Amino acid sequence: MGGGGSATASHLGRGSGIPEYRDYFAELGLRTFINAAGTLTALSGSLMPDEVVEAYDYARRTYVRLDDIQDKVGERIASMLGVEYATVTTGAFGAITLGTAGVLTGMDEKKVAQLPDTTGMKNVVIKMGTSDIGYIHAVLNTGAKVIEVSTLQELENAIDERTAMLFYFNAYNNTDVTPEQFVAVGKKYGIPTFNDIAADVPPVENLWKYSKMGFDLVAVSGGKGLRGPQSAGLLLGRRDLIQAARLHTPPRGATIGRGMKVNKEEVLAMMVAVERYLATDHEKEWKEWESQIQFISDTVKTVPGTETEYYVPEIANHVPTLRITWDQNRIPVTPNDAKQRLRDGHPSIETGGGRDDISVSVWMMRPGEVEIVAYRIRDVLRAAAA
Ligand SMILES: *Cc1c(COP(=O)(O)O)cnc(C)c1O
Repeated sequence: MGGGGSATASHLGRGSGIPEYRDYFAELGLRTFINAAGTLTALSGSLMPDEVVEAYDYARRTYVRLDDIQDKVGERIASMLGVEYATVTTGAFGAITLGTAGVLTGMDEKKVAQLPDTTGMKNVVIKMGTSDIGYIHAVLNTGAKVIEVSTLQELENAIDERTAMLFYFNAYNNTDVTPEQFVAVGKKYGIPTFNDIAADVPPVENLWKYSKMGFDLVAVSGGKGLRGPQSAGLLLGRRDLIQAARLHTPPRGATIGRGMKVNKEEVLAMMVAVERYLATDHEKEWKEWESQIQFISDTVKTVPGTETEYYVPEIANHVPTLRITWDQNRIPVTPNDAKQRLRDGHPSIETGGGRDDISVSVWMMRPGEVEIVAYRIRDVLRAAAA
């Protein structure tokens, strides 16, 4: 064995100096693009800032016990956010599955090993609203049954001795029941409440707002607005429930959560992503986004027949957004075809919107890309008009 230090360094990397990265994506023939669409999983979410990657790179160099780092990071994130407890999960989806599992089993290890068979447990989760949101599979994965209700009265009527949990989709609640009213019902009957706020930062205060409101558990995506690792997330809330959720996670093996492993690198990177997000000047960032949106709007509107509308989605992707529409008699291209032309051009650009518009947000772009997007949309529309 040689001198410990250099032996350790040499098997971890190329030694000192700037690594010569291969252009892997080019090698693989992958199309990269400018993201004007937002934090979409299919588009690989968000880009991690340097601090986050540095934390990852720090952690990969030595060993710690997985439970120990989750314990410490959980405490740190909880105290940063002013919530009771936290743990790093595999995305918001993993947070929902683990949190639900913890509610079903508590600290009973026999029950933990028994899931997804819920025999002998309260196993009904009541979901507020009838909107068809696929993410409810995160609850179903535990073996729990889900029933849907549309009003406060239906919610109260549905509660019985089998009710394990009340579940709320913050962004997809198609009822008049507010989160405050929902929490109050949970308190009245002593049943845990869960809020999925996966894509709902910004605003930053949403990270603690719903725990303070009284939700027992809250799930947040790590790789959307927070810009942590795309496969990470946060489960926030009551310590006893999160400790029970942790019983379902690795290193413990005979659990439904064994496949939801978060490595130490991502646990640490997630902590740093939260730190960084809290330290961000959100007002300044918002003003920048607004002026970038304004620039795109001004540029695109130089094409006669084009209209733009500035808006901010109320919940989820709550950021400055531009809707672009045009008179298709004067500019004969459908929004879908225009989007395809943006995608097929160089550099490729991914935009959002539906059948009738193109929508653009700037928060997931890198420096210098706002101008490219503005000119390219203008050029596609101008060329179609000619
Ligand atoms: C994105 C999203 C999820 C899944 O989050 P991941 O972090 O990708 O696991 C769950 N629920 C809602 C409402 C979402 O928007």
